[in-house]
Amino acid sequence: MDITTSNFNNKPTSFLQELDLRHHLHPFTDHKELKIKKPKVVVRANGVFIFDNDGKKYLDAMSGLWCVNIGYGRKELALAAQKQMEELPYYNTFFQSTHPPAIELSSKIASLAPKDLNTIFYSSSGSEANETNIRLVRHYWASLNKPSKKVIISRKNAYHGSSIGAGSLGGMSSMHAQGGLPIPDIIHINQPYWYGEGENLSPEEFGKKRALELEDKINELGSENIGAFIGEPIQGAGGVIIPPDTYWPEIQRICKDHNILLIADEVICGFGRLGFWFGSESFNIQPDIITIAKGLSSGYQPIGGSIISDKIAQTLEKKGGEFNHGYTYSAHPVAAAVALENIRILDEEKIVEKVHKTTSKYLEEKWLSLNDHPLVGEARIKGMMGAIELTPDKSHRSAFPLNEGQAGIITREICIKNGLIMRAVGDKMIISPPLIIKKCEINELMDLVYKSLDESKSHLEKLGISFR
Ligand SMILES: *Cc1c(COP(=O)(O)O)cnc(C)c1O
Repeated sequence: MDITTSNFNNKPTSFLQELDLRHHLHPFTDHKELKIKKPKVVVRANGVFIFDNDGKKYLDAMSGLWCVNIGYGRKELALAAQKQMEELPYYNTFFQSTHPPAIELSSKIASLAPKDLNTIFYSSSGSEANETNIRLVRHYWASLNKPSKKVIISRKNAYHGSSIGAGSLGGMSSMHAQGGLPIPDIIHINQPYWYGEGENLSPEEFGKKRALELEDKINELGSENIGAFIGEPIQGAGGVIIPPDTYWPEIQRICKDHNILLIADEVICGFGRLGFWFGSESFNIQPDIITIAKGLSSGYQPIGGSIISDKIAQTLEKKGGEFNHGYTYSAHPVAAAVALENIRILDEEKIVEKVHKTTSKYLEEKWLSLNDHPLVGEARIKGMMGAIELTPDKSHRSAFPLNEGQAGIITREICIKNGLIMRAVGDKMIISPPLIIKKCEINELMDLVYKSLDESKSHLEKLGISFR
């Protein structure tokens, strides 16, 4: 049997781009600009590299969208999907049904998650999982006869997904500007972004100050009206914002003191990215709910979920009655089988442990050396998530006399030309490479970063920018 994945493999790039532009509306894309720049047609990938339709190779320092943790091209995951499709391609988990992949994956995740977090509600994405969290938190408090505890507090510049609820939880002003977001009863406080907003405070003072904004907000609204606080351990899409060490312990204390649930959105930080199975461990916090997706299957299948605490699971069980919520593809058997195989590989090849002990240390040392580059105001990194702040004036952390984000886009395009996928968020450049990246590939990554920053600096100088 000859199986073709797409009849459009091996077609000329210009043909593919034309047709794509005609019929495909892309996520988070300016189509007016896309028409001029043309989409990059990615056709295959292996390890930490992707290849476009013209055979050009790129080091993918973003793991796709922060998800391909075990790297590209692992045949075991393809075989797991094939076997499961042959055995049971689909069945639902509504109406008192279940299936082996759902059962095995749930018990596996429960064994890896922080203690007390032992029950999983599944979705096909991080956005859907956070939709679940909004409804679950409110249903939980209503089950305890506290229906007024509806408000969820989040942060400005947070990213929790793109659906109506998840986009509302997020604090992206560009997203809120479209489509009537946020929905009611979601409140945003300031983020722990020291480089951009810390002014003269030390990172420690600033971290504490930003955490205390949560307590102020709770006191203002009354804890009887607040259900939960949600945060990414490290903000990803917001620009790899690594909070000062003083931030999370204080947030944890405040949630406990005021009887507010803590939701850690670990869609990026989960499954090894910070050198632990969960980012909460690296910040020493005990959330009540953890959002997962992305690295759960290393992106090989769309699957996500909410890991919930025994306290919440037991409350719902005791109260009885349905939680009137679910997705056709909750615990999809093929996605679950692929996630299981992904976790098996992370586990047996000790990938998380290696990230913790060696890979992240090696990358960190190289990455922090970027602090000496004239274009860099700050290089920061934790685990396998790093950022650099571009600036014309290191000592004052100043912005460029250009439109915000223009220097970032210039730098990103130079990176792409040089065969490096590094993302720009405003004037920050960010990386989140596959966890299996080898030392020699980290060296290659750093060479490409330095080369691209040097070229970007010359380009900016030609635009009249002077560096101090
Ligand atoms: C990507 C992301 C989401 C949304 O996940 P989707 O699968 O794109 O819906 C939610 N939270 C965080 C922290 C993310 O990085």
